[in-house]
Amino acid sequence: MPTSQPIAAAGGVHIKSKLPHVGTTIFTIMSNLAALHKAVNLGQGFPDFGCDPALTDMVNRAMQDGHNQYPPMGGAAPLRIAISDKIATLYGHRYHADNEITVTAGGTQALLTAILCCVHAGDEVIVIEPAFDSYLPAIHLAGGVAVCVPMRLSNQGYSVDWQAVGAAITPRTRLIMINTPHNPTATVFAPSDMEQLRALVQGTDILILSDEVYEHMVYDGRQHESVSRYPELLERSFVVSSFGKTFHVTGWKVGYVAAPAALTAEFRKVHQFNVFTVNTPMQHGIAAYLGDPAPYLALPAFYQRKRDLFRAGLESTRFKLLPTEGSYFQCVDYRAISDLGEAEFATWLTTEIGVAAIPVSAFYREPRESGIVRFCFAKKEETLNLALERLAKV
Ligand code: PMP
Repeated sequence: MPTSQPIAAAGGVHIKSKLPHVGTTIFTIMSNLAALHKAVNLGQGFPDFGCDPALTDMVNRAMQDGHNQYPPMGGAAPLRIAISDKIATLYGHRYHADNEITVTAGGTQALLTAILCCVHAGDEVIVIEPAFDSYLPAIHLAGGVAVCVPMRLSNQGYSVDWQAVGAAITPRTRLIMINTPHNPTATVFAPSDMEQLRALVQGTDILILSDEVYEHMVYDGRQHESVSRYPELLERSFVVSSFGKTFHVTGWKVGYVAAPAALTAEFRKVHQFNVFTVNTPMQHGIAAYLGDPAPYLALPAFYQRKRDLFRAGLESTRFKLLPTEGSYFQCVDYRAISDLGEAEFATWLTTEIGVAAIPVSAFYREPRESGIVRFCFAKKEETLNLALERLAKV
């Protein structure tokens, strides 16, 4: 859970916080703790390996070719065209590159801008918990009310309780947020999830914000259920993705939103005063790199190898593994090892065992203790092996 500190500015001037319950995120806290204790950092979700040098070459070339001034507000045309082609090829729907795709400063800005453009004061937004930590503050900043619906947790792992989602819908529901593949639970929606969502929103004005930043990390031959595969869903949806995840460049903060023209028009009204544009050379570099689909098509196999290596190592420990259907996260149940709360256990694991993890309780508005922590396996094999060596001693 974030720690909350009211801030008093210098000279005794007080600022009334718009987000009084938000402080330093658990990701920063655990990363700092990991650095302090020289722990293997499997907490925060980012790769410890580099991107394809061909990609940095293309960005360098874009700079040298003079792509260094403001691009069009919606994004550089070659990138919007490349995104439109990619979605059409993968999911069968062609978003118009001119007025249905907007390049954003990563997934986080895409989510905030989408929420700000359609959630009015007092509107309700359904959030399925556990949820990525930017969702609730973004809703709050828009003046909306988050209605949190917990996922079901059984021996088979986490799943969305669509009946509970349906029960949470009221005449004030403006938006439902979904996330597949899911952070932190690593679950992936099946066609039946999409069908249940479709049935719930049919005939309503409810919009959908679909966080698909892990779209290329889906394992065991499953397919990614993008809302853009489903005509009745995509007509009311903002689809969010992130090149930071897809190309191992989380620091570049380039992503996009695909949405029908009427939704994109509203999105861009906020976007143009939120960031206006996103850095130009990276957009041109990424556009060129997208010319070859091989790198992102190779991603499921690339990460599945890491998942399998990590899971095989954990099999001989006392951690109980939850399924990882997608994303680059592995959740484990530690109740056979300790009865500490999740935050205390994650801290102990970092400081005493030397492996940092994130408590899943941090992804809930009201922390709930399930005895589960999340590891990130977007790491070099040697990093995963070192972590496994240490975890074997627990
Ligand atoms: N959504 C989810 C579910 C995420 O895990 C993340 C990144 N951790 C984001 C959105 C944000 O993506 P970006 O880094 O591109 O802002």
